[in-house]
Amino acid sequence: MWTRVLALSLIGFTCDAEPAHRIEVVVVNLPQLCPRDLSTSLNAAALLYRGTPVHPQWTTQSTPYSKALPGNVPKRLIILLDQPSQSKFTVREQTLGIALTDRAFIFLPKIQQLAAAKQVPLSAILSVVIAHELGHLLLGPGHSPAGVMRPTCGNSEFDLAQRGQPGFTRHQARQMRARLGLLR
Ligand SMILES: [Zn+2]
Repeated sequence: MWTRVLALSLIGFTCDAEPAHRIEVVVVNLPQLCPRDLSTSLNAAALLYRGTPVHPQWTTQSTPYSKALPGNVPKRLIILLDQPSQSKFTVREQTLGIALTDRAFIFLPKIQQLAAAKQVPLSAILSVVIAHELGHLLLGPGHSPAGVMRPTCGNSEFDLAQRGQPGFTRHQARQMRARLGLLR
């Protein structure tokens, strides 16, 4: 009997689940953040995409992306900045990341400072910032009143990441589906 129940529930799960759409994202780890902290943060960022069609596939590298190979430039690039490269950007003090059309820059030294000041794990904040900036690469500019696409992320969003909760609204999931050409 339990076998049948299990089989039915598996069928139900397959029908209801959002089909995962693998999105390749290259992460450049310029500051040489320790691999464990980076992978914890990337795993938490991927969890924030639950309930959306996006399943980020992270590829990490520690060297800057070579402009000598334009044919190999990835569609989505996330660059963690170290202190010297962060200081070249003129942004507001509270800005933790910025996104252009195909790449985003993450101000890691500021995030490390904020995590220390709030006494939360680095991954709680870094995951939200990475999910937010990747959200811009997928959705374009614009923010929402709830979730990780709020214009200013704070404790409630950091809690989402720590608890492994979804970070995007249904409307944003639909927008991602439309932009990725997944609408039936
Ligand atoms: Zn934003």
